[in-house]
Amino acid sequence: MVNMLDKMEEVFDPEAVIEEFEAMTRDAGEVQTEALKKILEENGEAEYLQEWGLNGRTDPESFRACIPLVTHKDLESYIQRIADGQNSPILTGKPITTISLSSGTTQGKPKFVPFNDELMENTLQIFKTSFAFRNREYPIAGGKALQFIFSSKQFMTKGGLAAGTATTNVYRNSKIKKTMREMQIPFCSPDEVIFGPDFHQSLYCHLLCGLIFRDKVQVISSTFAHCIIHAFRTLEQVWEELVSDIREGVLSTRITVPSVRLAVSKILKPDSESANTISHKILGLSNWNGLVPELFPNAKYIYGIMTGSMEPYLMKLRHYAGNLPLLSADYGSSEGWIGVNVNPKLPPELATFAVLPNIGFFEFIPLNDDFNSVEPNPVGLTEVKVGEEYEVLVTNFAGLYRYRLGDVVKVKGFHNSTPELQFVCRKNLLLTINIDKNTEKDLQLSVEAAAKLLSAKNQEVVDFTSQVDISTDPAHYVIFWETSDDPNHEILQECCNCLDRSFVDAGYMSSRKVNTIGALELRIVKRGTFHKILDHYVGLGSAVSQFKTPRCVGPTNKIVLQILSNNVVKSYFSTAF
Ligand code: AMP
Repeated sequence: MVNMLDKMEEVFDPEAVIEEFEAMTRDAGEVQTEALKKILEENGEAEYLQEWGLNGRTDPESFRACIPLVTHKDLESYIQRIADGQNSPILTGKPITTISLSSGTTQGKPKFVPFNDELMENTLQIFKTSFAFRNREYPIAGGKALQFIFSSKQFMTKGGLAAGTATTNVYRNSKIKKTMREMQIPFCSPDEVIFGPDFHQSLYCHLLCGLIFRDKVQVISSTFAHCIIHAFRTLEQVWEELVSDIREGVLSTRITVPSVRLAVSKILKPDSESANTISHKILGLSNWNGLVPELFPNAKYIYGIMTGSMEPYLMKLRHYAGNLPLLSADYGSSEGWIGVNVNPKLPPELATFAVLPNIGFFEFIPLNDDFNSVEPNPVGLTEVKVGEEYEVLVTNFAGLYRYRLGDVVKVKGFHNSTPELQFVCRKNLLLTINIDKNTEKDLQLSVEAAAKLLSAKNQEVVDFTSQVDISTDPAHYVIFWETSDDPNHEILQECCNCLDRSFVDAGYMSSRKVNTIGALELRIVKRGTFHKILDHYVGLGSAVSQFKTPRCVGPTNKIVLQILSNNVVKSYFSTAF
């Protein structure tokens, strides 16, 4: 039966996929109108659309006139009712059965967003389109992909809906493996490794499986570039153990999860020749430079999201990659996909994403609008202008209508009539290392929670700021505090733990648990430090009355960083995780 199904699987035809993409983007405006019509027809009976008086109309003009621009907060009560199990049509016609946990946060709570079959189909369409374009420049077939992917456990909401990160929802769906098989690029690691409950053990096994199949590996990838670096940093530490496993054909005792042990042991055979080669190659490296092509001689490229908050990691990635090209992955979110990288040869710093006009209805708020005086006036997909920056609005097939994604993009050009977007930044993002995203509000909530411990002793936090410290491995958050008195060590250690625990963003917490983000550090600065910062800004021409302490100090803000570091008197590392 399985064989029969396998035979029935379609063969992936990249040229057909590209042709379809070209046809669709030639008519982006029309395809958008059709996509909106389909969304509104499918979901016409949803309470939300009825409430706003759409009355079954499906044209863009009525849609814009009736439906307001929203943020996640505006939809929270609707999504909560869905998660609680009410299965009347709330946001969508067909009931939602799965929830994605977005790494974004609203008022300190992880965000729930609806996930459904259509979003899964969009994901596959994006994967296939971007693979087709990659494959035209860097053909691969018949090999394997060393993918550092980790799927967290799904949990059940109060109403019995499966909830997990969007990556988990995608990788738990049977269609993803079928698509990977069609594209003839299966993973090195068995499912048990991807779905293993222990991140460290799974990572070790991904590396081991990669080395076992090292001659077959054609692609090395992960969702975010940060994870690829973390994987190879780990390899630096455990390579001798990996080599010994391959030599003996016996899996290290560090792998204790029975399902993972069993699955990996099945593919591990004693191979002293391979063990010797790997050892020899590693010992021949200078400072791990060019590690990837040395170990994986048939690798054609490294692939993952390398834009936005991943850019700071490019230098290290290039160090490992040697001459191998770095191909930046596509642009999407838990709320849905947006664009695909159809110019894989461009370096990550220049990567753009061509919007797929059939996977949603997209609008763009020009950022040069005067925020204070006018209502945002979004323009349609084909009306954006090259060189301008916009905030993205998404209407998708899973119940989000005119939803402010919170991302800023810049239009770099057009592919046929669809825009090619460059990712600029999160609109309100402050602290981010990998999949974590914390806003100014989240930092404030965390500081408020910790400061309560001080106020119980009649002491207070005078001022605060933060920084992402990527000089440590793994990178970590640093919070600077100036306090009114001289709190004792014990209480400051408690404050530090409390700060760490109070960032409740799902991406941050999960990264902290597996230590891909290091322990939060609280640095206490001398009294008067923030005054010096103010003096510095005033010296640059700021008005004292308008001065706002920067809540996050970027790496280019060297003078403020210098002022802070010159004044640190004590430092604490969280022991909360
Ligand atoms: P999440 O809410 O966890 O699904 O994260 C989605 C967010 O990650 C997006 O809204 C972007 O801010 C960011 N992101 C996703 N893809 C890219 C990309 N290719 N380049 C830069 N940032 C991205």
